[in-house]
Amino acid sequence: MFRKTILGAALVTAAFAAPIASAQQYPSRPISVIVPFAAGGPTDTVARSVADAMAKAIPGSTFVVENAAGAAGTIGVSKVARANPDGYTLLVYHIGMATTPALYRKLQYKPLEDFEYIGLINDVPMTMLVKNGFPAKNMKEMVAYVKQNADKVTLANAGVGSASHLCGLLFQSAINQELVTVPYKGTAPALADLMGGQVDILCDQTTNTTPQIKSGKVTALALTAPQRIESLKELPTMAESGYPDFNVSIWHGMYAPKGTPKPVLDRLVAALQEALKDPGLNKRFADLGAQTATADRATPEALRKHLAAEIDRWGPVIRKAGVYAD
Ligand code: ASP
Repeated sequence: MFRKTILGAALVTAAFAAPIASAQQYPSRPISVIVPFAAGGPTDTVARSVADAMAKAIPGSTFVVENAAGAAGTIGVSKVARANPDGYTLLVYHIGMATTPALYRKLQYKPLEDFEYIGLINDVPMTMLVKNGFPAKNMKEMVAYVKQNADKVTLANAGVGSASHLCGLLFQSAINQELVTVPYKGTAPALADLMGGQVDILCDQTTNTTPQIKSGKVTALALTAPQRIESLKELPTMAESGYPDFNVSIWHGMYAPKGTPKPVLDRLVAALQEALKDPGLNKRFADLGAQTATADRATPEALRKHLAAEIDRWGPVIRKAGVYAD
């Protein structure tokens, strides 16, 4: 009996000590950062930049970005929701965390319950693009052409619930015209097809489109933010183009599965904060039109609060559009 009690006490102590000991040794192996879209796209670009900067902030650590694409990111997000909560699986996802609950009837995760929140990363405007050779130099000409040729004009996106889908929904509702949409596993392949002329229109983040706009491989007609941005100074806003209420800004956040130990989360939050101060990261984001989150936004509380507010903001807009996916 006595022996049993001592043994029991030793086991209990060991059970409590284990997470603390492993948090002190954390990370002892590579940390996977899941990007739920195709490689080379805007979410991927943001995640790889942050992962590199976080690796510098945690000496000796290795961050490996993994692309788990499909269904506007929901496949990769479900994977993270079910992953072992040990700090070795993280997620970088965008506004889709807030829009997918209104769009998917059978979502495999609850955004406000199944995760730990690390912090906001940045805000990124979108650009309305057409393929080169499309007969329009501005939004006015584009809309006139689209309305006359609605049966043959195609609009690319990264699946129902993606940022490009949301932008496309708002656009179709603003011009009161339904279009044929073509879904991809991310906007890297969608942009490649736009450059190849296989699709006509794409609305996508500046973190993907800026280099292609600057090199003239696609034609940008408008920016979806209320103000012009330094990196694409010549590009008028949607408001300047006649759509004053058109405002879509995409934000990215970092998450871990629910139950990830607090000491591990604290290390990750500190590393994210450090990463977002990195001058190289800030220059890269600024060159791509992204605004790095300030330290007060790169926190678990700020991310969760922002997510809850965005779910409340977009839910009614999406439900009004009457779009659903299974
Ligand atoms: N920009 C994409 C979207 O429309 C996703 C991506 O490929 O990063 O959601």
